Amino acid sequence: MTTVGILGGGQLARMLALAGAPLGARFLVVDSAADACAGQVATLLQADWHDFAALADFARRCDVVTFDFENAPADTAQWLSERTRVFPNPRALAVAQDRLAEKTLFRELGLDTPPFATIDSREDLARALETIGYPAVLKTRRLGYDGKGQFRLRSAADLDPAWDALGGVPLILESWVAFDREVSVIAVRARDGELRTYPLVQNWHSEGILSASLAPAPDAGALDAIAARYARSIGERLDYVGVFALELFVSGDRLLGNEMAPRVHNSGHWTIEGAVCSQFENHLRAVLGMPLGDTSALATSVMLNWIGELPDARPILAEPRAHWHDYGKSPRAGRKVGHATLCANSNVEMSAQLSRVGSALGREAQMAPVVAALLAATPL
Ligand code: AMP
Repeated sequence: MTTVGILGGGQLARMLALAGAPLGARFLVVDSAADACAGQVATLLQADWHDFAALADFARRCDVVTFDFENAPADTAQWLSERTRVFPNPRALAVAQDRLAEKTLFRELGLDTPPFATIDSREDLARALETIGYPAVLKTRRLGYDGKGQFRLRSAADLDPAWDALGGVPLILESWVAFDREVSVIAVRARDGELRTYPLVQNWHSEGILSASLAPAPDAGALDAIAARYARSIGERLDYVGVFALELFVSGDRLLGNEMAPRVHNSGHWTIEGAVCSQFENHLRAVLGMPLGDTSALATSVMLNWIGELPDARPILAEPRAHWHDYGKSPRAGRKVGHATLCANSNVEMSAQLSRVGSALGREAQMAPVVAALLAATPL
């Protein structure tokens, strides 16, 4: 039996393990938390990222190692790669962990980004704001996700508070983009270099955290192929193996690169029920050296994220093509505790489902932008 090791034992590791069981894989996850939710469906090894005695045992027991957590230290990934197969490779992980390195890579590959500047001092920040202007967003270069480690600057009055909040670590200042919509493309690259992409997804965030995804993104037109082309260049440049996500802003007919995630991604959860082969299965097929699965969409899907606590499952499950995912985590503000996916064959059917669910759960605000996008789209 093949053993897949995963660094990080959150919901992504949990969904990888659930997808991998039919492939005959066994899973060993490393996490410092004794209650990491992947431990409910896989073997959990409780250790921190620098416990090399535990990691040596882990490496011996795994045929291949991958990640649930993109901020696993690059030195740990490198150390493991000298002992077992690690996908994606530590260099790809290091680029994706650093907002400056990833935006520099995007530019090298011809993908536009919001204007940005490296910030190492308060003087750098003041100088960069003169060229980038307001509104802008200051972000930590590393260890940021879900809007954490970010400060929005609306005017000069925000300069000192932004510096006080984030100064002292390497930072990046970006122009705040008045985008028309946010989209992402999920790509999977096999060990032999074959690359496939899922249809472009439209995403909505609330307080920096993904709230809902609609797939395929309506009326994507040429953007779908353009995003797929950028994903291909990134995958090839990094000699990437496995699934990664590229998050983009759409502004008029322009695509701007925001960030890449070197792992299965929240905006790809819809693929479990909405695509022929899910992102989780495809990631495992890639890292195990198996043929890739079909990335086509089977229907229109909407993924709704549950942040902080789970709502009542019943109104969701009463819908004809609804799927419920409880990650087995305890509730906590700002924590992703589950999601639901609704599938439909038309925009009208989907918006009716969302409206019913929104009013039953008192979550009209979460559904409203998705319903508006469906109703404004070319009818399916
Ligand atoms: P990030 O962690 O960089 O993906 O940021 C989380 C979310 O904040 C993004 O998905 C956007 O909704 C918003 N955001 C981040 N950077 C920018 C930007 N430069 N312009 C506009 N919105 C942004």
